[in-house]
Amino acid sequence: QQDPRIARISSAIRVIPDFPKPGIMFQDITTLLLDTKAFKDTIDLFVERYRDKNISVVAGVEARGFIFGPPIALAIGAKFVPMRKPNKLPGEVISEEYSLEYGTDKMEMHVGAVEAGEHALVIDDLIATGGTLCAAVKLLERVGVHVVECACVIELLGLKVC
Ligand code: AMP
Repeated sequence: QQDPRIARISSAIRVIPDFPKPGIMFQDITTLLLDTKAFKDTIDLFVERYRDKNISVVAGVEARGFIFGPPIALAIGAKFVPMRKPNKLPGEVISEEYSLEYGTDKMEMHVGAVEAGEHALVIDDLIATGGTLCAAVKLLERVGVHVVECACVIELLGLKVC
């Protein structure tokens, strides 16, 4: 039995075909943010799952992990750590390169934002191949953080997850 809130959340997400290029069905979460009930339900579902799990870090993946991560972090009493695209963070960083469909990209995190032994939740809006989330997990694990789970609002089905 699916939670009844999920149908409303799902219908609040707009799908735009052929954006940003032909063949991509872009899942636009900006319409979810306009629906105050569906947006709150989205955060509540994550909070219900992750409260009382001893999580001290919510790591949000740029850019849309920055929308969903902070309200979850505040509600469960965790800190928020941004996982950013290269050359955006001003302090000392550690970085992890990862593969895209064509080419590679890099993700960066501030040195000192997390401590070894902390428990983290990684948040993004969507998982497609899983390459982005894998890079975030690797970065956190390299500094001794235990990743409890990765969580997304949307899963694109039918893709090979890394
Ligand atoms: P992946 O690394 O393949 O799992 O891709 C996930 C990342 O790409 C997330 O940060 C998403 O925001 C973005 N993304 C990939 N495919 C889509 C899509 N169809 N619609 C919206 N965002 C997408």
